[in-house]
Amino acid sequence: MSKQTLAVELSKFAVFDDAKQNLEQYSTDSEVAADILWAAHMQEWIKDKTVIDLGAGTGILGIGCLLLGAKKVTFVEVDKDSIKVLEKNIEQLKEEFEIIAEIEIKNADIKDVNPETFEKADVVVQNPPFGTQEKNTDALFLEKAMQLSDKVITMHKSVTKTFIEELAEKQDFFPFRCLKYNYPLKMTMPQHKKEIEYIKVSCWFLVKNN
Ligand code: SAH
Repeated sequence: MSKQTLAVELSKFAVFDDAKQNLEQYSTDSEVAADILWAAHMQEWIKDKTVIDLGAGTGILGIGCLLLGAKKVTFVEVDKDSIKVLEKNIEQLKEEFEIIAEIEIKNADIKDVNPETFEKADVVVQNPPFGTQEKNTDALFLEKAMQLSDKVITMHKSVTKTFIEELAEKQDFFPFRCLKYNYPLKMTMPQHKKEIEYIKVSCWFLVKNN
C-alpha cells in the first residue's frame, strides 16, 4: 500500500446519500484522508493499534486505518442512516481485502460517550462537526477524544487554531504536528451555490505529555 493507492481505494467507498445539515455531514475527501492517515502510519500510530473513529459517518477514516493494518477499529456515529452506509462499506472492504481486525460499530451520540466506561484506544481519529450548526460541538468532540486516548488526530477549521491548541493544552496535550489543507467541500446542501467550495482546514496530531 502506498499513499496514492490508499487514496484510490478510499475513493471507492460510498459517502452520505443524503447529507444532514444539522449533523454537519461532510465526508472527508479521499486524498485528504489518505494524506492524514499516511502521515499517522509513518509515525507508527496505526499498524497493530486500536483506533476509535469518532463521528465516523460513512467510515472513511476508520476504513483507512483498517487498510493500514489497525488491530481494532471502533466506529462511533449518532446517525442510523450513515451507519447503514458504513455497514455496507465494511462489507465491501471485507470482500476486497483480507481484514482480520476487530471491527465495532456503536450508534451513540458523543454527548453520551462516557470515558469512564468506554474502552480506551491507542489513537482517536476524527473529522467532527466544525460547530457551525450546534455551537461547541467541535470542542465537545475534542474533549471526549482526549479522554479516550493519549493520541488524537483531529480536523478543524484552521481559523480555530488558538482555540484548539488552548483546549489541548488545558488537558495536557501538545500539538505534535499540524497538517494544513485547502479543503474541497462538495456542495451537497440546498443552500450551497457553488459546486465545490474550498475552506481552510487543519489536522492536528495531539499527544498527551507524559
Ligand atoms: N468522519 C466522517 C464524517 C465527518 S462529518 C468523515 O470523515 O467522512 C461529521 C460526522 O459526525 C457525521 O457523520 C455526523 O453524523 C456525526 N455527528 C454529528 N454530531 C454527532 C454527535 N453529537 N454524536 C455523534 N456523531 C455526530
